[in-house]
Amino acid sequence: MRKWPLLNKYIFKMKTSPILLSFIFIQTLILSGHSQTKSGLSDAELSMAKISALTAIGDLDNLDAALNKGLDNGLTINQIKEELVHLYAYSGFPRSLMAINTLIPVLEKRKKDGIEDKVGEEPTAVEVDDKYQLGKDVLADLTGVKDRPKTGYAEAVPIIEVFLKEHLFADIFKRGVLTYREREIITVSALISLGNLEPMARGHMSISMRLGISESQISDILNMIAKEIDLERANKGKVLLSEITLNKALNSSIKTKNDDSDKIFPKGEKINTPVFTGTAWLTSLVEADDVNTIAAGVVTFKPGARTFWHQHPAGQIILVLSGEGYYQEEGGSKKTLQKGDVIKCPPNLAHWHGASLDREFVQIAITGRENGPTQWFKGVSDKQYLGN
Ligand code: MN
Repeated sequence: MRKWPLLNKYIFKMKTSPILLSFIFIQTLILSGHSQTKSGLSDAELSMAKISALTAIGDLDNLDAALNKGLDNGLTINQIKEELVHLYAYSGFPRSLMAINTLIPVLEKRKKDGIEDKVGEEPTAVEVDDKYQLGKDVLADLTGVKDRPKTGYAEAVPIIEVFLKEHLFADIFKRGVLTYREREIITVSALISLGNLEPMARGHMSISMRLGISESQISDILNMIAKEIDLERANKGKVLLSEITLNKALNSSIKTKNDDSDKIFPKGEKINTPVFTGTAWLTSLVEADDVNTIAAGVVTFKPGARTFWHQHPAGQIILVLSGEGYYQEEGGSKKTLQKGDVIKCPPNLAHWHGASLDREFVQIAITGRENGPTQWFKGVSDKQYLGN
């Protein structure tokens, strides 16, 4: 924050130069990074991440202080114990046992100093007949993928896959005390700090995001690792994170392009009739018959597309679903239509409708057929279309 007065001085002294602007931009990034802690991890969660990182690399000198800070930040004794149990699956028994041995004197000293740390929730043992199935279910919950094919290690050494499911994802994950979210914060922190575990780190970052841990919260873990553990490993984590977010953005944009799921009705067939200008599509929703003399259909007009002048012997109702379009009655001015607009078009009054010049237009047309078919006239000239 101290840097701002300095910056202001420069702003007043110099006219805004590109170099200064990029300097301001970088400053803004740094400052916004600092203020991001509001939407970032809580102090307790950050403590969990730090305890995990220090345990995983076996930095017991700094672990002592991190354990104290974690308790100060509101972690319960059982949460920390559970974290150290969880971690043996990722960094091995020796690291976990050393960390537990570091925790014991920390707790004793705090008690002696009169600090009353909360004990917290007790873990529960998992008692089910089929632990393998439970582990599979937990993993499917975490990843959103059911029954993935067994490849790589699972194919080469099947027992390790059984241990992974039965023990890690059933016995450990289902013990309670820590939420899945907390377990993933701990896991990502350990995997990145250990280094050279990209496939697992990538997997657990993706799981974290599925559990609602945001990109900036994962960045909090990586920034802590950069500062406290290892800059190079943290940077590898940042590359992984940006790959994941880029892929997510790419996938969602492909989905939006290919998937019409946000559209209520399908686009239907291209309209092949001489009484339309430009390209339009039709989905017939209701055909008129003896029981119901009203027809309903969805028409999608490409930008610039429109009907010829025409009239309906029994009138027409137009409901606008999306985009921007025009509607004009003979002798009247051109109306612009938006999503949600409704037009009641009188019987036997010539009119036209279509998309605006630069936006698609989707309408439902509800047309009475009892007095005969639509009567078509001449096309809508460009001058009429672009006029008022
Ligand atoms: Mn019409």
